Amino acid sequence: MSQLRDKRDVGYIREISDKALDLMSVYNIVPSPSNYQVWYDYACEENMSLNKAIDDMIRKKKSFTSKVCNNLYERFYSSELEQNAVTNVGQGMQSELTKIAKAVSDINKGTAKYGASLNESLKGIDDVPGGEELKTIISSLMTRTKETAKSNISAQQQLKESAKTVQKLQTTLDTVRQESLTDMLTNIGNRKSFEENLKLAITTATEKGNELNLIIGDIDHFKKFNDTWGHHVGDQVLKAVAHTIKTRVGEAGSAARYGGEEFIIILPDVSLEVAEKITDTIRLSIAGRNMKRKSTGENIGKITCSFGVAKYRQGEHRNEFLERADAALYRSKTNGRNRITLEGNSKSNVVKIA
Ligand code: GH3
Ligand code: MG
Ligand code: MG
Repeated sequence: MSQLRDKRDVGYIREISDKALDLMSVYNIVPSPSNYQVWYDYACEENMSLNKAIDDMIRKKKSFTSKVCNNLYERFYSSELEQNAVTNVGQGMQSELTKIAKAVSDINKGTAKYGASLNESLKGIDDVPGGEELKTIISSLMTRTKETAKSNISAQQQLKESAKTVQKLQTTLDTVRQESLTDMLTNIGNRKSFEENLKLAITTATEKGNELNLIIGDIDHFKKFNDTWGHHVGDQVLKAVAHTIKTRVGEAGSAARYGGEEFIIILPDVSLEVAEKITDTIRLSIAGRNMKRKSTGENIGKITCSFGVAKYRQGEHRNEFLERADAALYRSKTNGRNRITLEGNSKSNVVKIA
């Protein structure tokens, strides 16, 4: 049945939304955005495997604890595609509500105008023969007009409230999405955000024929650092390094934590030489800093990073691009660390600090 309805139809969305919220209340489910997404789709009956999984759980009288709900969400919504779909539903709903609110407001304005002209007619009616009878008719029309206006206003009010709720839901969804793209420890982009950004950057570079650079950075001897100072201090270093990279890259590109103690930078629209210069300011800034233990202020020495830089070759697959930057990083490591290697150069650029 549901397939025959227009999924953007506000009536349909309301109906499904009510059904989802009812079910969530019946099964005592926390109304979080992710749970709402699961139960909205369940109510839609569009994703058969989701419905089957939930029906099985209901049959087995399983309780929908936070853990069970999280598992459900992760199982069915790990891909970004579906996340985008929810955002779109939210946006669609928002714009439909705005349209309806405008329509009701227009009707309202019409009713007010009509009411005013009835009032005018009432004034001039005394001079008309048989005016009394007309007066009664117009008066009753006016009463009805006022009633209509009143109910229109309350409908408009209700719509405004719904629009506000959807707006809130939309904001929550945006926050959830933002969180899913942020590395929790360092607060810069995570691998997923990097992958999204790289796809986008390659598409733009291909369309416009512009330059594009990829830089991978890796903290030197970080295992030893952790062994010496402990994991907690290691985490502080990761945060500091991430902050330096993010600040130095600024608006010129995007930076992310690729994983562990590796960082990755996308620098579009600049030559390989400029990319190298920017990377070197990052390298020097990290290596020049005297690291201190936050709690005690104790000096914990210096940290260095090695880098590999590659320039995009039109037409190559992003994995190849990544591999070339990674190979350059590897050369920086084997040639002594704390340096930058440009992919394609036979000799690595040795820029060691004395
Ligand atoms: P290299 O110069 O060759 O890169 O040596 P390395 O010791 O940095 O490299 P290796 O790959 O042997 O070890 C990486 C270390 O990074 C191991 C792990 O303890 C540390 N590490 C990875 N992720 C984290 C993290 O989130 N926090 C902390 N404190 N350390 C981490
Ligand atoms: Mg590493
Ligand atoms: Mg390392």
